[in-house]
Amino acid sequence: MKKITALMITLIMAMALVLTACGGKKDSDSGEPAQGSSVAPAPQTSGIDYMALVNKLNPLPDGWEEALETVHFTNTVGDDVEVEKKAYDAYLELKAELEKEGIYVDLDSARRSVADQERIMNDFIEKYGQDYAFKTVAKPGYSEHHTGLALNLYLIIDGQDIVENEDMVQYPEIWAKIHAKLADHGFILRYLEGREHLTGYGYEPWHIRYIDDVATAKEIMEKDITLEEYLGTVKSADVTIELGDSDYYTEEELMEAVVQIKCKFASFSGCELHSIRYAGDETNLETNIARMNAIVGEDKYAECAEFLMDFHTPPEGSDTLKPDEEYKDYQWWLAREADGGLELVTWGY
Ligand SMILES: [Zn+2]
Repeated sequence: MKKITALMITLIMAMALVLTACGGKKDSDSGEPAQGSSVAPAPQTSGIDYMALVNKLNPLPDGWEEALETVHFTNTVGDDVEVEKKAYDAYLELKAELEKEGIYVDLDSARRSVADQERIMNDFIEKYGQDYAFKTVAKPGYSEHHTGLALNLYLIIDGQDIVENEDMVQYPEIWAKIHAKLADHGFILRYLEGREHLTGYGYEPWHIRYIDDVATAKEIMEKDITLEEYLGTVKSADVTIELGDSDYYTEEELMEAVVQIKCKFASFSGCELHSIRYAGDETNLETNIARMNAIVGEDKYAECAEFLMDFHTPPEGSDTLKPDEEYKDYQWWLAREADGGLELVTWGY
């Protein structure tokens, strides 16, 4: 019991620490308002950050919906679709380029507000119960579609709308041609094959993301990496990383864990990251694995990995971080299923 109590305190601290940016990984922690915030939001200049990372760990930044400018149009199946303004212009260019090659696409859906997502979630809870709803519907605030920059394409082949996922995946050669043109218009492919543990989603050839920067889009597409990997490795390389030796995890797996930690740490406003190190195989214990399973409320993880971080807080501090303080050995815990990759589960002292 003592263990669990200590863990809960750790969790509460971790959540409080990153309240503006994170409600935690756990899907079933309802009652934690995704957008709720008592910590002063990061100063928002006008407009939106086209490189913003929104995934299951990183919610829509504060002030986004107020700053967002969108356009509406009606697609070929008669649905209203809302897209961020610049992303829409870029999409029209992409579409025109594809048509030159005889490839026809349209948008199934793009922007979904946080309120829409809440409504969908509530509908599902009412119809199917909480367990099923939390498993199938993205938590409000944590869907990339909130940004207006995530677009779901569908194919039009011989005048037929191909909108169902299981039908769309039958055309890999068409998707390959579409993907080859994305970066030229500032788009990237968001959910790559085999990176579910990083993005939280399986392969989706239709889900593209506008980042408003052709050079960066080209770099990401050429390296065949996710936005998580780009932001966690390419963009923030000047940090000491110590992976040590492991009998459980390959160097590549440990680096992927570091990427996820860095992505989450990016929401620790104003903090300066010094080092991240793997704590060693000796913390991959039954008791720790059980803790990870307890946090997610499912008996799914077979192994876990602990990392330790040193970082420095900004002079102004925050509600939960002491000002101008060196935090040492701050813990980050990841776990993996028997056949999966390491996923970030919790963090804090
Ligand atoms: Zn999508």
